[in-house]
Amino acid sequence: MGAEAIEGLLDEGRTFPPPQDFKRQALITGAEVYDEGNTDYEGFWAREAAELDWFREWDTILDWQPPHAKWFVGGTLNVAHNCLDRHVQAGHGEQVAYHWEGEPGDTRTITYQQLLQDVQRAANALKELGVGRGDRVAIYLPMVPELPTIMLACARIGAIHSVVFAGFSSAALRDRINDSECKVLVTADGAWRRGSVFPLKENADEALTETPSIAKVLVVRRTENEVSMDAERDVWWHDLVPDQTADCPPEHMDAEDLLYLLYTSGTTGKPKGIMHATGGYLTQVAFTHRYVFDLKPDTDVYWCAADIGWVTGHSYIVYGPLANRATSVLYEGTPNFPAEDRFWQIVEKYRVTQLYTAPTAIRAFMKWGDEHPAKHDLSSLRLLGTVGEPINPEAWMWYREHIGGERCPVVDTWWQTETGAIMISPLPGATTTKPGSATFPLPGISATIVDDRGQEVGVPGGGYLVLDRPWPSMLRGIWGDEQRFRDTYWSRFGEGIYFAGDGAKRDQDGYFWLLGRVDDVMNVSGHRISTTEVESALVSHPSVAEAAVVGRSDAQTGQAIAAFVTPRGDVEGDEALAKELRDHVAKMISPIAKPASLLFTHDLPKTRSGKIMRRLLKDIAEDKELGDTTTLADASVVDAIKGRYLDHSKSQP
Ligand code: ATP
Ligand code: MG
Repeated sequence: MGAEAIEGLLDEGRTFPPPQDFKRQALITGAEVYDEGNTDYEGFWAREAAELDWFREWDTILDWQPPHAKWFVGGTLNVAHNCLDRHVQAGHGEQVAYHWEGEPGDTRTITYQQLLQDVQRAANALKELGVGRGDRVAIYLPMVPELPTIMLACARIGAIHSVVFAGFSSAALRDRINDSECKVLVTADGAWRRGSVFPLKENADEALTETPSIAKVLVVRRTENEVSMDAERDVWWHDLVPDQTADCPPEHMDAEDLLYLLYTSGTTGKPKGIMHATGGYLTQVAFTHRYVFDLKPDTDVYWCAADIGWVTGHSYIVYGPLANRATSVLYEGTPNFPAEDRFWQIVEKYRVTQLYTAPTAIRAFMKWGDEHPAKHDLSSLRLLGTVGEPINPEAWMWYREHIGGERCPVVDTWWQTETGAIMISPLPGATTTKPGSATFPLPGISATIVDDRGQEVGVPGGGYLVLDRPWPSMLRGIWGDEQRFRDTYWSRFGEGIYFAGDGAKRDQDGYFWLLGRVDDVMNVSGHRISTTEVESALVSHPSVAEAAVVGRSDAQTGQAIAAFVTPRGDVEGDEALAKELRDHVAKMISPIAKPASLLFTHDLPKTRSGKIMRRLLKDIAEDKELGDTTTLADASVVDAIKGRYLDHSKSQP
């Protein structure tokens, strides 16, 4: 891992203690909580779990048979009950759960009472469509209120949801539906994309020609575009849901029953269905949401600007905030539509107190110019968060100054789809931050850094990030693939040691600095795309023999996709084919996955065992000195590509 290479970029010199005004009112201001979490982590998590409503208390806090953990064994609860009923029963029915802001500017205000009723109606509708406990429901929706509603409806009746990001193609949707054999699909006529309509139902229809498990499709009307409805299979939300009774008692779920599946982009092409369970998951998302964001449910207006299609949205738009009775903003659109100040207009309009977004968005804001946030009153903000990739110190500083007015702590939160909840992050009232560092594992969490042989690396030092203790919201497996679960996460460094796939280092003060992934997943404008997925899309085209793609760093999008393609036989690799291939990738995966550059080459650098060496292509694409080439089968190949890449990039502005 190139821990040394990146060292120079990290500025460890600057430190920011919690701002005094923030600290005065913060939920946690001292370090004692770390002692509580570390001396007896099981007891610590049990105390947090007890904050939730349980129908039956657990018998055993933790049953750990590596790599399988069961938390709160024997306990029963319902996630929807915890997110809705208990708040309404406690007299908070009138409190706003979501201030929803549509892309075109339409709005809806949804109270806890209304959401509880909507969820019960939707739950009864699912039952009418034949969904029961343990069934899988695929959800392919834009950021409309029906999305959290249907997720909670699944949770209420014990169905397992599988949300597929609405930007994914029909092929991606089809594969995810088939992998877990979903019974029902919930989608919409269309989704707003910067003023025009993205034909969601049409995409879904294409997928549905090859998804034998789907019996019924529930369709939300959002964009009012023309769609075709299959009379046997498809039913409009507005025809089915509003007429249901708003009375659907919550199922008593086992703490270990699955709450949802969420597919990661996957490094071998086939996406991994990450499984999350009920009790431990809700415990940790509620805990982290409350203390990392210092949530005050009576006064805060919290906004996580991610998409619910990613894990960040599951945990920090839906389950964490609702479990904590937060009032949240739910925004349908993009940060620069209709103009580059849309976010700041929303912050001002709703008097947002916490904002949680991604480094790629922050870098875009920087590029668009300081004048956009400067036009708006952002004085309501009291805390800023980031997630998704390492944040460069420059972006961190800009965020703190131009958005946070130098009065807001910045929490850089490291976690993954697999961890379910935040793992490494400052506690904003207690932790002195350093721009670019996620600081320390949260109380109750243990992380360390090891070398190639699994030996713990001292402080300071760098290597592979591992989690060496189970945690409540940890993944329970990969759907239908136990072996892959073991191989991917648990086999590299020994029994019970979770390998996160990320490189990291600790500085002399023990602060964690995340250095990016060890494998080859690209991050384009905050979207995770695996190299293999793009490669297999390219290779699926009849003119392509072989392809390798890498993410090269790009000031604007985080990473841009550079593709290296070997055409088949006598096929001419020309401009027209390059365009065709880029469009092909967009269709197969998503427009986000379209390669920014595409170079035809007769050969790709390979190891002797035949594996493509992407890191060398990355060096070429980033015009860096080539790394170690000793394991190459034919070293002349890289030099040839390098020369041609430079010519090629000169001709592409
Ligand atoms: P896949 O697992 O399919 O390859 P992915 O890992 O990109 O996809 P996520 O689970 O959404 O999908 O992302 C988790 C990864 O994002 C982490 O493993 C890490 O590489 C990166 N990441 C998230 N937050 C941070 C952060 N605060 N600092 C550094 N890296 C982060
Ligand atoms: Mg990952």
